[in-house]
Order: sequence, then structure tokens, then C-alpha cells
Amino acid sequence: MKEVILLKYGELILKGANKHRFEQLLLKNIRDALKGMGQVSVESLQSTVYVDFADEAADLDEAMKRLSKVFGISALAKAAVCPYDLEQTCRLASEYLRPRLAAARTFRVVGKRADKSYPIKSPQIGAIMGAELLRAFGHLRVSMDSPDVTVYAEVREGHIYVHPDAIKGAGGLPCGCGGHGLLMLSGGIDSPVAGYMMAKRGMRISAIHFESPPYTNERARLKAEKLAKLLSAYCGKISMYIVRFTDVQTQIRDKCRQELFTVIMRRMMLKIACRTAEKCGAKAIITGESLGQVASQTLEAIVCTDAAADMPVFRPLIGMDKIDITKTAMDIGTYETSIEPYEDCCTVFTPRHPSVKPELESVLQQETLLGEHLLDDIEIERVDIE
Ligand code: ATP
Ligand code: MG
Repeated sequence: MKEVILLKYGELILKGANKHRFEQLLLKNIRDALKGMGQVSVESLQSTVYVDFADEAADLDEAMKRLSKVFGISALAKAAVCPYDLEQTCRLASEYLRPRLAAARTFRVVGKRADKSYPIKSPQIGAIMGAELLRAFGHLRVSMDSPDVTVYAEVREGHIYVHPDAIKGAGGLPCGCGGHGLLMLSGGIDSPVAGYMMAKRGMRISAIHFESPPYTNERARLKAEKLAKLLSAYCGKISMYIVRFTDVQTQIRDKCRQELFTVIMRRMMLKIACRTAEKCGAKAIITGESLGQVASQTLEAIVCTDAAADMPVFRPLIGMDKIDITKTAMDIGTYETSIEPYEDCCTVFTPRHPSVKPELESVLQQETLLGEHLLDDIEIERVDIE
């Protein structure tokens, strides 16, 4: 039986005059997500995207898995393509839905007549198909309020599409419609979630990772690259910049007051991030900071850190509890990698008692001890992750 995948728009529906631009971007992202899966037609009509593979043997489950990570889609379903004839559709539907309906106790049918020229109205479509399915599956009962399975029969564009409950899509807006941000990606739990959240609002993501060999291990860097790879399933290709940070950290440790080490280090990270962002065309920095989580994330520390930036710094996790951040990390599939135990450069040389209320004036005064050329010859390597 001919099957397609139907995708429903998310927030895109609310877009007015420039909806077309968002739609085109969404279709491109869908095609990119399906690359390597064979010839496929991806078309949009009446706020529904039709994904139709030329080869009947195409792996639709793999396609569903990939598409469930594409932002801008609120729901997705595999559907049987039936003719514009309700009798035949009922027959095909009972065959198509057999495993689902055999396992259910209750069901309902929702008819949706997107094509208003079709002579049978939505409630009647539901009633006719419901009666047929009841005849075919004697054990079923109808429940309009809380059925085990809802069967949808959507009449559109010359066909009736039949599918059971749709699965939830990734939501958000198509990646790329919200500008370009540079994510400060450590190997921790928080920063991948921060990147995910901004990508979900349509931001294209590049990443920057700081490493301090020999204090940090090669594995820590590979872990950050693995996290970028996991994120790229949601936001497409990521250019990742790897910064050799050892010398800067050593200089700060040797020349500045110990309790200000962390805040000065974070300011240097942010300065390097801003320079890199400018070079790669990103217009904002993204971090995984959350208010009060550690000494460097008190308001006073953030005020000092922020002053080093010359572009907006987005901290989408700022008001979230760790437990909720962790839950999101599990949901998006980054948690297992994040908890691999390799040390991050941020913990190298960390003083035992970092200042939780640093003052910008003293921080700036201490930074004069580092000289003007500290960041001149930083080694930065680019890796493309997709
Ligand atoms: P995470 O769980 O993301 O590592 P964290 O709670 O450990 O965060 P910090 O180590 O203070 O917090 O780092 C705060 C933010 O600074 C991180 O979320 C990340 O955006 C950035 N950051 C920290 N270490 C690195 C690194 N090695 N490379 C790039 N960015 C980093
Ligand atoms: Mg960290």
C-alpha cells in the first residue's frame, strides 16, 4: 500500500506576509534531513508537508526518526494514500490499521475535509468510516473522549490520507530563520541544551570549544565533538572552532589574584568567542549558564563576564533548575555523552575559593597585568560537524 509521511506546521502557521520564506527554509531543512535516503518529493500544501519517496522500499521509520528532530514541525504521521472513494478507503484503512486496531479496545475516527469540494462532510466521513471499522473489528468500542486510537481520514488534493495518532514533532521555528549564533560548547550537560533551545527558535548554530592540553584530555575534545554531532541532527551542519586555551589560563594563574581567576578566565573565553563569532558571521554568543549554579554564575560574576562581550550573549537556561535542564538533555539525547567523565578546561587551575561577588573595577585592574597581546596568537582549529 502506498504510504507517505505527513508533517504539520508548528508556529509557522502564525506567520503572516513572509510565511513563504519560512516555508521554503523548512522544506530545505526537511530535504537536508533526508539526504542519502533515496529520491523523495517534499511538497507543502495547506500547511501540511507531504513527504513521498519514489522507492516503495524506502525506510519510512528512519525518515520519521530524522524528521522528528526538524524544527518547525508540530506533528508527523505515516499515512496510507487512499483513493477519493470512501468505500475503498474504508477497506484499505482496515487493512492498514489492522495491527493498531487489533491491539486497541476503543477508537474513534476523525474526518478532515481540507478539500471543500469533496461531497461528504467531515463528521459524516468520521461516522461512515467508524461504522465500517466497527464491522471489521468486532471487539472495538467507540470512545469520543479518550480512545486508545484515533484514526484520521484527511481528504486533500485528490486523495484520502488515513493515519493513526500523529507523533509530536520538535516544534519551534525552522533552523536558519533566526540568525546565526556561536555556542560555547563544553562537554557538560548544560551547553548542548542551550544550543538546542536557540536552534529551536530558528538559530543557525556554530560552536566554539576551549581545551587546555595537556591538562585536558584528547577525549574531552572528542566528547565535545560528539555532542556537536548529536546537536547537528536538530540543526544541520555545525562549524566547530577548537581553541588552544592553555597559555591564556597559565598566564592568568601566574599573574592575577587567585580568587579572580575564574571570572577573568571566563571573560577571556567570551572575548575569544566574540572575535570568532565576528569572523564566522555569527551575531550572538550562546552559553549554558544558569543563575546561581556555580560561583561563576552569580549575578555579580555574570555582570563582570558580560562586560567583556561586544555582542548579545544569550543564556537560554538562566532561569531553569538543573533537574529540568537534565531532563531536557535526556529528551534530546545528549545526556549520556555529557556525563562521560573527562575534565573540562574550566576546572583547570580553579581556585579553592573563587570570588562569588567580583567587582568589575578590580577585575579590569587585574587584567592590565596580562598585557595587551595575550589573545593575539591564539591557535584556533576548525572542524566541520555533520
Ligand atoms: P556545562 O554543563 O555546559 O559544562 P557548567 O554548569 O559546567 O556548564 P561552567 O563550567 O561554568 O558551567 O560553564 C558555563 C558555560 O560556559 C557553559 O555552559 C558553556 O557555555 C561555557 N563553557 C564552559 N566550558 C567551556 C569549554 N571548555 N568550551 C566552551 N565553552 C565552555
Ligand atoms: Mg562545564
